[in-house]
Amino acid sequence: MNKRDAKKFGKLLLAERDKLSNGIRRIEESALGESVREATGDLYSYAETGTDNFERETALNIATGESERLSEVAEALKRIENGTYGTCEECECPIPRQRLEVFPAARYCIECKSRLEKEGVL
Ligand SMILES: [Zn+2]
Repeated sequence: MNKRDAKKFGKLLLAERDKLSNGIRRIEESALGESVREATGDLYSYAETGTDNFERETALNIATGESERLSEVAEALKRIENGTYGTCEECECPIPRQRLEVFPAARYCIECKSRLEKEGVL
């Protein structure tokens, strides 16, 4: 992947990162409220104590999923920095542009991803 493309996908990833972290903050704030967050200091330790509030739990699940996506995006940004972005981590072939345009944080090409999913690795 050339530098111009890497830059373009870097921008997409940065935008995605901002969107995800804003979304997570909003979910946390609406689900927990400031006081709870200050008291526990940790979203996940609070979630583990259990709650019968279904809505709150759902919101926390969403926040957890978004956090995972956020770390995938952060990993992809690291790969842009060290020049390995756009290369499948499994077979080391270039990941097709079209796939990156849909999913800029992709770590694997489609073949490897579906194989790894079948094997239960992903
Ligand atoms: Zn591959």
